[in-house]
Amino acid sequence: MPLDGRHHRTGRPIRVTVTGGTIAAVVPIPDRAGLPTLAPGFFDPQINGALGVSFNAPTLTADGVRAVVAECRAHGIAAFAPTLVTGPFAALRHGFATLAGLAELADVLPVFHLEGPYISPADGPRGAHPREHVRPPDADEFDRWQDAAGGRIRLVTLAPELPGALAFIEHMRKGNVVVSIGHTAATPGQLRDAARAGATVSTHLGNGCAATMPRHDNVVWEQLADDRLTAGFIPDGDHLPASLVTCLLRVKTPARLFATCDASPLAGLPPGRYAEWGDEFEVTPTGKVVVPGTPYLAGSGHFTDHCFEVLMNRHGVSLADALTMTTRTARVLLGLPVPTLEVGQPAALIAVTETPDGWRVRPVSDGGR
Ligand SMILES: [Zn+2]
Repeated sequence: MPLDGRHHRTGRPIRVTVTGGTIAAVVPIPDRAGLPTLAPGFFDPQINGALGVSFNAPTLTADGVRAVVAECRAHGIAAFAPTLVTGPFAALRHGFATLAGLAELADVLPVFHLEGPYISPADGPRGAHPREHVRPPDADEFDRWQDAAGGRIRLVTLAPELPGALAFIEHMRKGNVVVSIGHTAATPGQLRDAARAGATVSTHLGNGCAATMPRHDNVVWEQLADDRLTAGFIPDGDHLPASLVTCLLRVKTPARLFATCDASPLAGLPPGRYAEWGDEFEVTPTGKVVVPGTPYLAGSGHFTDHCFEVLMNRHGVSLADALTMTTRTARVLLGLPVPTLEVGQPAALIAVTETPDGWRVRPVSDGGR
């Protein structure tokens, strides 16, 4: 079925024909009112699961992964990095092996993200990660996970203040793994050392840090100011105040800023209390996922499409910049190809429309996948 819309780069009216999950033709059409803007679908570098399926679960199955992928595709996410967080060795090895075994999903799950377990044990920076499984960096342990993952762990989030962190960062860089700073209480000097050792990213900057910090020498200012670091952030309307989002947009600019929804394994579930990661979490009626009785969020109950709409409708970000931060920056950072609207490219597309209630995005036909 042909898709009519405006090309996201040129603005020209086009008709896209899709066959078998790829773009078969792109031809110009006469202009008319009401055409949506067509663009390649989202890439999200941090999704922990959905619908009660956790990539960390020792019981993760291929069907569970397929269910998460289907849910993500329904939110316009063309591809994402399944993210495994702090946990026991065996559960993570099982998760990576299960993901790597799904050859038919390799284009949707091109790389994996290991967030932890090499993070700060302190309350606050640790966020919702289970304290009993937090530990210092261990290159041998990582290498065993990387073997289980078929070499597809491309992004590692760690706290650079841990013993052995700098040598571990150098080990990651030799293996072409991108190192991101997160869940940290590092000093400014430790953050600069990490960047010098090869860390190039900040994980969900402004979250995964202490609720109360020194006014000047803190992890947010230092990472904002360091041009060596591209920043991820969670613009879901819950994780960050509008003023901090404005600072991120102006200081980092969309070329060095990528949005992630950081979807919790509980994303997509109705409000209520659930057991996850060995703890209890709550999905609130507005879709937040919280650690009951604390100020800490445990990932998001929303997906990347929601973040895209929040960026445009709440923060006044342009369509082009919102697309850059949700489809492009993270791909470039991770060395992944950036899809285009051309023949032969994947047909997992999104359509963006301006409505009386604001900008809306929806997934459009990708050939019946
Ligand atoms: Zn996190």
